[in-house]
Amino acid sequence: MDLFNNHEDWSVKLEPILVKYKMRKHPLNYNNIYQLMVMVILSAQDSDANINKIAPTLFEKFPNINSLAQANYESLTTYLSTVKNFKTKAIWLLEIAQIIKNDEDIQLSMEALTALKGIGRKSANVIMREAKVASVGIITDLHVIRVSPRIGLTPELKDGNRIEKELMKVLPKTIWNEIGMAISFLGREICRPKPKCTECPINFCCKYSEKIDLK
Ligand code: SF4
Repeated sequence: MDLFNNHEDWSVKLEPILVKYKMRKHPLNYNNIYQLMVMVILSAQDSDANINKIAPTLFEKFPNINSLAQANYESLTTYLSTVKNFKTKAIWLLEIAQIIKNDEDIQLSMEALTALKGIGRKSANVIMREAKVASVGIITDLHVIRVSPRIGLTPELKDGNRIEKELMKVLPKTIWNEIGMAISFLGREICRPKPKCTECPINFCCKYSEKIDLK
């Protein structure tokens, strides 16, 4: 199979996953952009499930960014002790809260979000997608890093930012908002480390699946 460098071809080929996962909410159970921003920062190197577990008590105590801005390190870390690298993340959250101070002042641009500690392009892309802001990139989490080369969209690369750049070259901008999470959901559910190719809605165009018997 030829790799498709044509934008139009890929948007057609990937349509089954765009339809399947269209507008599905991110697995982090947030109620507003403040909560999402905090949870995205906390979930780095940790699981969404763990962050969902600690979130209700954390947000009961700190219901908005203003309450977080008034917190101190000790009171915040009490709620974060099961989170990976919680000491550093607590310092970042306090610093961010003191900069922003009000939920309505969270700026939803790539530049503003990535200027904050603990928020890289992946996290900013997630926040912008959930906030329905026009995308300037493609969500590239660990699932997208694993799945994109399998499909044949990108070379094998470990770095999320480099994979994102490759994806932005081959995929049309019209699908950037949704395609990252669609590939991520595919990776979470079907294209696991041991992929379930017979169940996959895009096995007809996947480079990896050419090597296996789909019957
Ligand atoms: S066909 Fe298999 S390897 Fe390809 S995307 Fe689907 S599950 Fe992953």
